Parts: sequence; structure tokens; C-alpha cells
Amino acid sequence: MLSSRMENLHPYVPGEQPRDREYIKLNANENPYPPSPAALERALEWAKSSPQSLALYADPDSLSLREKIAAMLNATGGVLSRAQISGEKISPCERDRIGFEITSEMIYAGNGSDEVLSFLFYAFFDSAEKLISPEFSYSFYPVYCEFHSIQMEKVTLLKDWQIDVDEMISRAKKFHAPTILANPNAPTSLCLSRAQVRRMLEECPRDRAFVVDEAYVDFDGESCLPLLRDFENLVIVRTFSKSLCAAGMRLGYLVANPKMVNAVLTVKNSVNHFPIDAFAQAFGSAVCENIPYYAECAKKIVVQRDGFSDFLRSRGFFVLPSSTNFLFTKKDGRSGKAMYESLKKEGILVRRFDTEGIEEFLRITVGTEGQMSALKRTMEKLDF
Ligand SMILES: *Cc1c(COP(=O)(O)O)cnc(C)c1O
Repeated sequence: MLSSRMENLHPYVPGEQPRDREYIKLNANENPYPPSPAALERALEWAKSSPQSLALYADPDSLSLREKIAAMLNATGGVLSRAQISGEKISPCERDRIGFEITSEMIYAGNGSDEVLSFLFYAFFDSAEKLISPEFSYSFYPVYCEFHSIQMEKVTLLKDWQIDVDEMISRAKKFHAPTILANPNAPTSLCLSRAQVRRMLEECPRDRAFVVDEAYVDFDGESCLPLLRDFENLVIVRTFSKSLCAAGMRLGYLVANPKMVNAVLTVKNSVNHFPIDAFAQAFGSAVCENIPYYAECAKKIVVQRDGFSDFLRSRGFFVLPSSTNFLFTKKDGRSGKAMYESLKKEGILVRRFDTEGIEEFLRITVGTEGQMSALKRTMEKLDF
């Protein structure tokens, strides 16, 4: 009964979402803070004051949401941890200035960036062709490759776990292939500079899509938004799930040249033309109008991250320098699996992978100050 395609799928395994007991949940890179109370209030008010909006189909183009996303990016430069806040006003720091205006025609919004990514795979990568990607990166990419019969060409990371820019370029040229990478990368937490990505874009085929997944960029990364002016093949994917405290709402988007956006619209209109529900659109718009709150959350997370990273190093852990809301860490002579299991018994969930080469690492999401203190105490008690 099953298609042969179906029988050969190896689906993505997400971080656990256990309901059996209350864990300190540091395993899925979710934000430990709730959404902005003002944003939530506004979305609920919208639903209460115009309930008929929920009886009608939502705007298939999410136009209002896309306008608000564009305004948010223009106001912040696309990196919340460095955005400058004074009262209700927010502005980008010099390093993050975009240099031109992002418009709503440059944005496509969908149900979480996972859905946006799946449409990108359909729109820009051909089956039986190569797609260049780092060896360790977001584990959904190989899953989509399998689904679309695309051959993933995995490029080994350098000794310091950084993406091998030269080798990525040389494979993209050799196969005249498109590229996908996460920057900052997951699960390594390392960031490439904008100059490094620019060099890749300059040398990789200009007529193949180049996708940069910026899920974590708000926590000290360097956004490639300023490169959109020079590269029509660049597609930047971003999400509300990490820095915008809304993983449960399923909102994600891409920023690209309008021609690329139109290609994705064609895919969307061939699958499900009302992708984002009306409430999520209203909520997402309200989030974009309350950005100082989220910038404060990102700044708090960066402080906790750096403090916890010092703590780990003081206990002999190897910790990669993180530009994200998580730490990728291991300790010589300690089994990653055993540490993961002991922490779980103590009520703290972190993430680890069975993937060869990174089995001994833990990926620890940065939580609130209270959560990180609890984790420190537990690690001391367990003598890690
Ligand atoms: C979390 C994550 C996503 C998925 O985000 P959603 O918007 O929740 O689908 C995409 N890419 C990377 C690298 C991520 O870590």
C-alpha cells in the first residue's frame, strides 16, 4: 500500500516535548520568556473585537504581517541583541545597518521557517542534483533532501568546527550547485562573518539559489540582509520561534529579491494557499510592533549564555564560542549520553545527537537566570 518514496523516508526527530513531568526545558532552543504581554493583549483584543475575522478566510498574502516584518527589520538591522533601545524607540547599531529599505515585496511569510524551507527546496533545488551544505548543520536539511530526491553534498567542517568556506565554494562551482547553510550554524553555534558569506556569494554560481538560515542571528550573529542588494540569488530565512518567543505560533519568513519571493508564492499556491491562520497573522503583527521587549529578552539571554559558558570552561568543558541562544559543549572523558541521562533524571532536559562525530556533545539551550543557576547547581552536585 505504501509508496516506495514513503517507505524510504527518515523523518526529522525534534527535541523532546515531554508532558509526563515538569522539566527545566533546555533542549529545543525555545525562548524561556513568554511573548510580550502587550503583543498578546493586542492580538486577543483583535480577536474579541472582530470575531467575524476568524469565520472568514485569512489574507492569503499576509500583507499586513509582511509590512510589519519589513518595518521591524529596517528598525533593528536584523540583530536584536545589538539593537539600541531608548524607551519605545529602537535603532540598529552601526555594524547592523542594512543600507537600503527592505519592502514587503521582499518578504514571504509562512507557518514557521520549516515550512518556508520546504517550499524553498521545492522552488530552487532540483531532484537528482547536488545541494551544497555543511556536514553538521540543521538536521532538517537532509530530511527535505531525501523527500525531494536531492543529493546533499556534505562539506566537512574545519578542525575548529567552523564551516569550510573555501571547500563550500569549490564544490558549488564543481557541481554548479545551489547552497544552503545556517548562520549562525546549528548545532555548532558558530557564526560566519558577513564578509565570509559575501565571498561565498561572489564565487558561487550566481544563477543558483544561495540560502542562509538566520534562525539564531538575533543572538549576536551577523545578518546577511545588507547583501540582498548585491545578490539576486540570496534567500535569507528567519523565524519567530527563537528570538521572538513564539515557537508555538508557527511563524517564519524569508527575505529575498521579489523574483525569488514570487517563485515561492507559486509553490505555496500549489500546496495550500491560506498558509498562515488569521490569529497568527494578527499576533505576528503585534509582535513586530513590540520589538524593544524582544530585544531586551535577547540581551538577557546573551548575558546568561556568556556567564554559563565561563562556568562550563571553569569546570573543564570544551565550549564552542556561541553566537546563538545555545551552547555546544563536551568534556573529555565524559560520555555525552550519560551526562544527558543524569541531567534528565534531575529534571533538566538538554539535547544530544547520536550522529557520528558529535555523540559526546551536549547542546544546551540558554534559559533564564533561574534556570541556569539550577543547571549549575545540578552539575556541581553530579560532579560534571
Ligand atoms: C529552529 C530552527 C528552524 C525552525 O524554526 P521554525 O520556524 O520553528 O520552523 C529553522 N532553522 C534552524 C537552523 C533552526 O534551528
